[in-house]
Amino acid sequence: MGKPLRPSGKLLQEDAKRHHRALLLQQLFRQGPASRADLARVTALTRVTVSDLIGEMVAEGLVEELGAPAETRVGKPPMLVGFVHESAHIVCLDLSREDSIHGAVVNLAGEPRTRQEVPLKGRKGEAAVEAVHDLARSLVATATSPVLGIGVGSPGVVDANGTVIDAPNLGWHGVPLAASLRERLGLPVFVANDANIAALGEHTFGGATGGGLMVLRVGKGVGAGLILEGQLLHGHRSAAGEIGHVVVEPRGEQCACGRVGCLETLLAVPHLRRRLEGVDAPAKVLRRTGQRLGAALAPVVGTLNLHELVLSGPNDLLGGPLRDAAAETIRRNTMPVIGDELVVRTSVLGEDVVLAGAAVLVLAGELGVS
Ligand SMILES: [Zn+2]
Repeated sequence: MGKPLRPSGKLLQEDAKRHHRALLLQQLFRQGPASRADLARVTALTRVTVSDLIGEMVAEGLVEELGAPAETRVGKPPMLVGFVHESAHIVCLDLSREDSIHGAVVNLAGEPRTRQEVPLKGRKGEAAVEAVHDLARSLVATATSPVLGIGVGSPGVVDANGTVIDAPNLGWHGVPLAASLRERLGLPVFVANDANIAALGEHTFGGATGGGLMVLRVGKGVGAGLILEGQLLHGHRSAAGEIGHVVVEPRGEQCACGRVGCLETLLAVPHLRRRLEGVDAPAKVLRRTGQRLGAALAPVVGTLNLHELVLSGPNDLLGGPLRDAAAETIRRNTMPVIGDELVVRTSVLGEDVVLAGAAVLVLAGELGVS
């Protein structure tokens, strides 16, 4: 990572062609089929450049000619070209679930073609790395189109090279996961934090409407991914969004990280399910949790003027009273200009949001589209 989500800024001369290809692919990916003339107009590239690059991509099978649209004006109807979603496949891995690794082969539209799941059975450290390698290899073998790359969402802090700096749940400290997968499988590999790539998945495939986006991943742990001005926020040491270990209850429960009363001790799925066990009025517990979550998030939402807050995790916990109470609390604790248009919702992608984000990592890294 570390790259802009969308190609922008000055690029070196030798990168110009790659940049021009990415501009065209981005347009076709986002807006659907277009004529060469339309592509030249919206990308400000010359007709000759567009024709040459489209010709190349048609020969590669990445783009196809689709014929003329049904309604055309007088004169020769323009030929439309479109992105071929099955021209390549992407292998996606989600390491953020409780004690299992989920994987999928998806097409370039992020649609799963095959899925596989491997129970971890408590495996950690090197044994967990081996399980990831085995699943990636197995998924690559099931792809029916050339594999563009491998995208991995890992819990914990992951640096720009795809090294997992710290993931206590997997017993990983300084594990060069991207490098070892690349060496073993000979494919481009991108590894990033699960909450960060959930934000990418939501941004590209989940119907995010633009404006600042925060995706709060709630699973075994709690973390957030932020997309601001169209770019993923990384932070000084790649740990942006680590709100799960911000203390919200100084007299609360002991957290796995060593502090007391982290947001994670209120909200993580195992903690929340335990608090709901045998309770007469679960809605009341969920409401109260939502209020505390809202109080913790209001300063972030207010500081960044976020447009959307997406809660990602089990819908029976996060939808309903918890979401509503969080939204009310944030609105009460912030200015109307912040709260009025704030959208608080659950993810339409459900638990697939990390796999979708893993696909976006590869699309952005290899084709420059997102
Ligand atoms: Zn903690």
